[in-house]
Amino acid sequence: MVSIFDELIKERLITAEQLADARAKQVGAKRPIHELLVEMGFVKEEDLLKVASRVYNMPLSKLTPEVIDPRVVGLLPYDIAECYGVFPVRREDNNLILAMSNPYDILAIDAVRIKTDLPVKPILCANNDIKKAINKYYQTDDSLYDILRNVSEDLPFEVLHDQGGKLVIDEKYEKNDPSPIVRLYNLILKDALRSRASDIHIEPEERSVKVRYRIDGDLRNIMEVPLSLQAELAARIKILSNMDIAEKRKPQDGRMKLLYQERKIDLRIATIPIAYGEKIEIRILDPKELMVELDTLGIDTDSIGRYKSCIIRPQGMVLVTGPTGSGKTTTLYATLNFIKSEKKNIITVEDPIEHLIEGINQTQINPAKGLDFSSSLRSMLRQDPNIILVGEIRDRETADIAFRASLTGHLVFSTLHTNNSIGAVTRLLDIGLEPYLIASSLIMIVSQRLVKKICPHCIEEYSPDKEVLEKFSVYLADHKIKKYFRGKGCEACGYTGFLGRAPIFEFFEVTEAVKALIARKAPEDEILLTARREGFETLASCAIKLVGAGITTLEELARVVVFEEQDTARISARRGEKMKALIVDDDEDILKVLGKRLISAGYEVIKARDGKEALEYAFREKPDLIITDTTMPKMDGFELTKQIRSRLETAVIPVIMLTARQDKTSELKGIDAGADDYITKPFDPDKLLSRIRMVLRRK
Ligand SMILES: [Zn+2]
Repeated sequence: MVSIFDELIKERLITAEQLADARAKQVGAKRPIHELLVEMGFVKEEDLLKVASRVYNMPLSKLTPEVIDPRVVGLLPYDIAECYGVFPVRREDNNLILAMSNPYDILAIDAVRIKTDLPVKPILCANNDIKKAINKYYQTDDSLYDILRNVSEDLPFEVLHDQGGKLVIDEKYEKNDPSPIVRLYNLILKDALRSRASDIHIEPEERSVKVRYRIDGDLRNIMEVPLSLQAELAARIKILSNMDIAEKRKPQDGRMKLLYQERKIDLRIATIPIAYGEKIEIRILDPKELMVELDTLGIDTDSIGRYKSCIIRPQGMVLVTGPTGSGKTTTLYATLNFIKSEKKNIITVEDPIEHLIEGINQTQINPAKGLDFSSSLRSMLRQDPNIILVGEIRDRETADIAFRASLTGHLVFSTLHTNNSIGAVTRLLDIGLEPYLIASSLIMIVSQRLVKKICPHCIEEYSPDKEVLEKFSVYLADHKIKKYFRGKGCEACGYTGFLGRAPIFEFFEVTEAVKALIARKAPEDEILLTARREGFETLASCAIKLVGAGITTLEELARVVVFEEQDTARISARRGEKMKALIVDDDEDILKVLGKRLISAGYEVIKARDGKEALEYAFREKPDLIITDTTMPKMDGFELTKQIRSRLETAVIPVIMLTARQDKTSELKGIDAGADDYITKPFDPDKLLSRIRMVLRRK
């Protein structure tokens, strides 16, 4: 029988050269030749199908919903359907009817027969129809498949479930479930834990679902998931966290517990219906972050001494203030841990209880059952505690009960949402508390923030901008800082230059002189002046010491202390912008020639001279495409590709390998590392551009 390719050449629809070109491309692309011929623009699909129908003596079938039996789809795994460009249509007399655009693709037929254990009967269909059917019925697409293919699968956590009040490892949790949705959620969790994320946001938007992590207080875009997967992903998360999967219109709360590095990690999951579906927020409560000792918080000896002398008093009120996420809970837990003893009865009223401390009675408020802060507090007081922690003072009633309790033999701790310590006094007056009540009960107000710490792996000396130095000139004059440090950015810190956070504090002791001022409602600046005279140091002044010690940068202080905390999420607004290509080669000529060609073809170009530099750009710039040499100093192209593929943030960036080596071994090595295509030097620039377009189209 004549081959379809011979026939195509005979009819002058393609040239022998074009066929050879497609053949050369086949291994790298792992796709059938006839598909490549169409994609490379050598022949129109309708012409190809006409010839195929004649050569194979087979009519062209349409893939309409009426002919497809969705139950059969489950017989063939997605990756086989995708790899061979085939689709299982239905069963007929115990044969599997298989839609193919090349019905004589023996390799494909064999693969399907072995996998399904059914004899295969091919029917001829347009490649586009098959693609559409695969996307529709498998509910997944190339980009997700690429992520799942490239990221390693071993899960570092176990799922825990409650068995009669005891937490045990859920043996039924299928770690090796092949379903793309299960694997995707596993990967999101695994990557978040590894990145030290404090929460995960899964947000459906108009075109895709955005996955973001909050790391060290900042939100970072991690990946985009096709919108078609949103419902399934939401359902998976709801099942695992015991929510009602049918309920999509009301917000829901759920929980999940994991065992990770021998710690029990609590996940608090909330779903919120929004315009494009359900937004999911997952808070990751890691006991490691909350089990901190007072002495390891990083407070200087003088201040910690004063703080300790206040928290061992038998009665009074201690307030910790700061915006959300400034570490107030950690400080209070560390405080309770420090003062707890068998002789003391300590109770808490919290929303929510973030971490259980041994030897302390913790209660969770429950407004739905009429248990808000004030009513819970009232009932707790009947147990005559020595020490009380009220999660937050939000209203006058709670403030009133808490302050009165602190005058009648109880030591009370609470938090207030204000920016500085002295501002808390004004806030309490605004709530409606009597000035004398505030003045007589308050012992100390702590104000705190968290600043990002310079990454110890890439710390370097630098000179801050004049503008920033100016901003802190008053404080800098007192501290005589000679050297300034910052993080250059490295793999350990995700190229941000920061790793972890440290708290900074301001301790405002309410002395007799200050009490007198509060009682007569003196203005804030008058209180500040008096406090200063008595040795009070502001947050900025305390924080400067951390700059001098090389722990944080002036810029970070400016962000946290001077301007209030902002959401620094950089949402990439790429739509309509130029495609960004990163070229990696130690050969300057290649960089020059290729760069020029790409720029004239309308791409934005970034250049790197070795794999290490390229990795840095890949994280910082999030290019749309990477073209890399294989042999380079410091880090070669194979290792670079592996690194790119091992993180969710960069796993989807297509990689094309470029090399002078013309052997199959390194080509396979490249594909193995996760490269999308492989081109040998010297290359024809036009051919390279068409390959680039192909790779980008697949994404
Ligand atoms: Zn670093």
